[in-house]
Amino acid sequence: MDKVFGNIINGKEETDGEKIPLNSPVDGSLIGYIVNSGRETVERAIKSSREAFIKFYGSSTISSRQKLIGKLAEIVQEKADTYAQLESQNTGKTIRQSTFMDIPLAISHIRYFAETDEFKFQRNITHPEYPGTEGIVQNAPMGVVASIAPWNVPFLMAVWKVIPPVLAGNSVVIKPSHYTPLTAMELVKDMKVAGFPDGLVNLVNGTGRTTGTYLIESDNIDMISFTGSTPTGSKVMEQAAKNIKKVSLELGGKSPNIVFADADLDHAVKGVIFGIFLNAGQLCESASRLIIEESVMDKFMEKMKTYLESMKSGNPMEFETDISAITTREQKDKIDSLIKETVDAGGKIFYSRNMKDAPDNGIYFPPTLLSGLHPGSGVSDEEIFGPVLTVYPFRSEEEAIELANGTKYGLAAGIWTRDLNRAARIASMIQAGTVWINEYHLLSAAAPRGGFKKSGIGRELGIEGIMEYTQTRHIFYGNNASGMSNIAYGILIKST
Ligand code: NAD
Repeated sequence: MDKVFGNIINGKEETDGEKIPLNSPVDGSLIGYIVNSGRETVERAIKSSREAFIKFYGSSTISSRQKLIGKLAEIVQEKADTYAQLESQNTGKTIRQSTFMDIPLAISHIRYFAETDEFKFQRNITHPEYPGTEGIVQNAPMGVVASIAPWNVPFLMAVWKVIPPVLAGNSVVIKPSHYTPLTAMELVKDMKVAGFPDGLVNLVNGTGRTTGTYLIESDNIDMISFTGSTPTGSKVMEQAAKNIKKVSLELGGKSPNIVFADADLDHAVKGVIFGIFLNAGQLCESASRLIIEESVMDKFMEKMKTYLESMKSGNPMEFETDISAITTREQKDKIDSLIKETVDAGGKIFYSRNMKDAPDNGIYFPPTLLSGLHPGSGVSDEEIFGPVLTVYPFRSEEEAIELANGTKYGLAAGIWTRDLNRAARIASMIQAGTVWINEYHLLSAAAPRGGFKKSGIGRELGIEGIMEYTQTRHIFYGNNASGMSNIAYGILIKST
């Protein structure tokens, strides 16, 4: 019988209801069916999370929550190979990337949240207007967080969407992408094994049009934590406005890598390739624009071509394969049409790799270099979310900054130069939440990340990423002996 991936509500997997087929982008094979949850199921999951929040928050402490998170890290670590297999089968990313990057990075992030003591949920204050009185400022949990995740890095995203809110004392209802729910489901099941109470994290499967919409429309959630495309983020924010809900939005990008002629070009060429072709360009911060000093452009492009030729296409489930699949058929169609638009608008395909060794019936797109584009036209501004790099020459530092900041997005950027004064000067002019100097894509759990401009609102990771899931409460301790309240009350109440 075909496997059904259901919802996890109150500690139990439920497989009833409408089903959607789930195929692997590796070779088109059927993985199973996922449930497409209706409004009643979503509301039941939210209710269960509400009850768990009320019970758990009052009876847990930061250290007891961190202990459970630490236990979870151990369990996931023991099953790391299973997670990597599931992740690659479901997304089509290479097994090498899942095994050596996505899964271990996510585990190290779970550990960070289990161990960090850099944040404080409470601080004492005095009130300068009322000498002798004291107060406490608390960062209280939001309550029930609705977490919505995309399909490109499902396990890492699930970790980011679940662990920081739980550390901050919240409960969660998570909806993974209907294309890639497998590792998020495994995580929620492993949370039960680690000892988290049933219902603290519930998972509902389904599409954005159905389940995602029901989740964000509910008035019974307290916050929406959304990661996905900018157009969907805009809809989420509109809906949140109707119910006055806090939102955090991690959205799309069109990030630049700026390469100066004085850079270590051999290192830079690898960094630029890693920046765009990791995960077949399906990363929010993929550096899809190369902004390069004109004097070294031709040499650099030739070097890139040589590296791309040496990368192996093939079955992503084999360890030697370098090039990942495209996770969804819709995404492949979108890349095709954007490339066509670019060529129609006068852009040139400088290079496109042969992908003949990739498995039949899978979803693949060749690593591609595009040149001759005018900033502001076609794919220069649109997020492609595929293995496509657009290249622009520059002649001055000012021009490089203008090009780098010249899109509606502002997620990340890379600067490649040996002149660190110049790098620092430019970094502080770049409108982006993360700037790497002579590196790309190296994520740290201690470093907050998120977007400027239309790349989002709020931050994930680091202290800021934990505090995102809290709201501030001020508690005022009166001190009658100080006499301050008598002065204040005397404004209204005359002494008798
Ligand atoms: P998407 O916006 O289509 O979907 C994201 C999630 O939202 C999915 O779970 C989807 O089912 C759900 N959804 C869709 N429509 C919805 C609606 N109307 N109401 C509620 N939920 C809805 O994005 P995607 O195609 O899954 O992911 C790719 C996008 O995610 C890219 O734009 C990428 O840049 C972005 N992304 C951003 C970050 C970041 O940290 N900034 C990280 C990863 C991916």
